[in-house]
Amino acid sequence: MANEQIDFSKHEILLSSSEIKLRVEELGRQISADYRDRELHLVGVLNGAFIFLADLVRQIDIPCQICFLQASSYKDQKLSSGEVTLMHNLDLSGKEVLVVEDIFDTGLTLKYIFEDLQQQKPKSLEACALLSKQIPDKEAVEVKYIGFEIEDRFVVGYGLDFAEKYREIPHIACLD
Ligand code: 5GP
Repeated sequence: MANEQIDFSKHEILLSSSEIKLRVEELGRQISADYRDRELHLVGVLNGAFIFLADLVRQIDIPCQICFLQASSYKDQKLSSGEVTLMHNLDLSGKEVLVVEDIFDTGLTLKYIFEDLQQQKPKSLEACALLSKQIPDKEAVEVKYIGFEIEDRFVVGYGLDFAEKYREIPHIACLD
């Protein structure tokens, strides 16, 4: 069915929209304090981080610039393909860069992004992920700001999709 939606009686709501809102406010305060008097450049990772980034920037009370790159590793399925494709036209040389990601799962995507952006010689390069999955073998990537640690479940909503569906749901639900 084209408009099939999650049946919430069957799928657990992991994080409500009010829980997310409170945590995003905290992250915004923390990032504002850390980057005060610095020129913050936020790089949102499309597609999944678009809602998180939009909410986060409105909780940051210092001037910042916003740009995007596109990353894809999942091809309409719940398991990573193990390959990450990046698309962008960014010039971040000498900039204070904070990559904003929806979820830090294996860390493969962030590892690729860091390797790619490091070549541009930014002044600083950090990451902020709304979610981090507790799994044993994560890539050795340091994510300075993490919204929530979650168990290893497949989640959707608040920008996160399954086969391009469910991004618009205002909370985060488990699909498994
Ligand atoms: P990683 O490279 O860290 O394994 O995965 C990062 C990307 O995989 C995320 O940006 C996200 O797009 C996708 N991903 C990982 N886990 C989930 C999940 O539970 N739900 C959804 N919708 N996407 C996920």
